Amino acid sequence: MKYIFISTLCLFFGACQQNKPHSSNEGSADPHSYSNPQQAVVKHLDLDLKVDFESHILSGRAEWTIENGTNSDTIIFDTRGLKIEKVVLGEDVKETSFTLGKEDKFLGQPLKVHIKPSSTKVTIWYKTSEEAAALQWLTPAQTAGKKHPFLFTQSQAILARTWIPCQDSPGIRFTYNAVVTVPHELMAVMSAENSQKLRTDGVYHFKQVHAIPSYLMALAVGDLQFQKTDERTGVYAEPVTLPKAAWEFAEMGKMVNAAEKLYGPYRWGRYDVLVLPPSFPFGGMENPMLTFATPTVIAGDRSLVSLIAHELAHSWSGNLVTNATWNDFWLNEGFTTYFERRIVEAVYGREEAEMQEVLGFQALKESIGESGDDTKLKGNFAGRDPDEGMTDIAYEKGYFFLKTIERAAGREAFDKFLKGYFDQDAFKSVTTEEFVKYLESNLLAKNAGLSDKIGVSGWIYQTGLPSNIAPVNSGKFKAIDSLVAQWKATNKTAGLRDRIKTTNELLYFIKALPESLSASQMALIDKELAITKSGNAEIQCAWYTLAVRHQYKPAYARTEEFLVNVGRRKFLLPLYKEMAATPEGKAWAIQIYKKARPNYHSVSYNTIDQILK
Ligand SMILES: [Zn+2]
Repeated sequence: MKYIFISTLCLFFGACQQNKPHSSNEGSADPHSYSNPQQAVVKHLDLDLKVDFESHILSGRAEWTIENGTNSDTIIFDTRGLKIEKVVLGEDVKETSFTLGKEDKFLGQPLKVHIKPSSTKVTIWYKTSEEAAALQWLTPAQTAGKKHPFLFTQSQAILARTWIPCQDSPGIRFTYNAVVTVPHELMAVMSAENSQKLRTDGVYHFKQVHAIPSYLMALAVGDLQFQKTDERTGVYAEPVTLPKAAWEFAEMGKMVNAAEKLYGPYRWGRYDVLVLPPSFPFGGMENPMLTFATPTVIAGDRSLVSLIAHELAHSWSGNLVTNATWNDFWLNEGFTTYFERRIVEAVYGREEAEMQEVLGFQALKESIGESGDDTKLKGNFAGRDPDEGMTDIAYEKGYFFLKTIERAAGREAFDKFLKGYFDQDAFKSVTTEEFVKYLESNLLAKNAGLSDKIGVSGWIYQTGLPSNIAPVNSGKFKAIDSLVAQWKATNKTAGLRDRIKTTNELLYFIKALPESLSASQMALIDKELAITKSGNAEIQCAWYTLAVRHQYKPAYARTEEFLVNVGRRKFLLPLYKEMAATPEGKAWAIQIYKKARPNYHSVSYNTIDQILK
């Protein structure tokens, strides 16, 4: 997933959670799943669902093929808010017995199904609830085209259990087939092989032949069309968005080629992107074969497509080799951030990658200041919502750890090592400890002194930033530093337009403006650079945050419009936090939020509710 977060989450969720340990899932290797894979584990799913836009409910059945190697009499699934209607074993006509355990706010309820030693199939008939946290139902007004409703899912981290009864741990993998029935005028797509055309009967068949963990289960239904960008890549989007989206992402094929050149073949077949309506809470979600992406990356100039590099990189780090638990999340995101910047470097050049690295380092420094004990790479989120681990620590501290290894071992040796890691652990889930072991035997043992140079355990098991962190540098940003210094000395803005060329440079410029900035200085800068009118969401977020802080009123209308139309949590949190810092700001925020909240996914509004409560 791309860039969620911001560390207030930890504070806010932390506060509502001084509750008891989850005794009911003790003994499970994954603190966020009730399942019992050591006894009985799922291997394949046949899913049959009907999508009802009237009632906002999915109903149908999940037929699980299981392995019961220990002759267990029970298999345990994770559920949250599901209405379980009946459970049947294999060809049995008779229902088997099941119980739903005590409900936990984050984990939901364990579904314990009575099985026989010989059982190979468990079929669960169920309905989702209207509150299912993974599902976002949009009215036609909330879509780009305004004519048809839309549904999309977001399963990561532990929300798959709100729409499918499953063993909801990233350490458990299964293949799946699905049949999904939708209204005739709408198209359904999943994290699988997809139809490229509307099916007039509204019945869609899907097949995912590679074993994936439950958090990569994904479904979207809406007025969608497909346009290919080359032979193996393409874009799904609402018709009004499709031409812009296909243009913006036209270089996806180049990125897939660059990625393959770095770390071996792309193993999933097609790589397509689905552009969602603006309420999607994340930048992107790496659903296999079909990245879900926010329309906020359609900047009109391809300046934000590194998001696609990120989601594509997950086809190796994350989807192919997966973090075994959410405490190992940095294995997904740190590796992906590293891989993303390597793709960017290959396709757009070293200068671009350097700028992204510096921006990443700035974000990391802020996160380190705010996250306390949660600044260890190896997380400890037992008893908490694993979304709390989705911070810049996993992404950027993870990145700089790998960058530090690259610097110590040399790029060539490190690339060979990484390629070997993706090969050896393909379609497997890996713990931090397993990775460290692999690192020791396949890289460190071959090179005396390397281990001391890197200091692996300091990076992984200690808080803060080790002193051997690889330095960052961008010539382009140094030039912006001088521009800011010049502006501070003279207060002259003329000529800035010619010297700040790219999105990254403008973003860096905005972030480098001093705390003492005044509204009248903002007005002069705005006159020269027209920032308030920008359509680039990264720029808008950074600038509007300053506008709120320094009460630059000419940007207020656009700020409000942005908050009502965009649902991406990364942009919403800093803005609402800034507004909530003063009583007048908070009153304004609450007024906007009343209008905006129905456009947000639960992943976004759950956090903002806490900020504005
Ligand atoms: Zn990611």
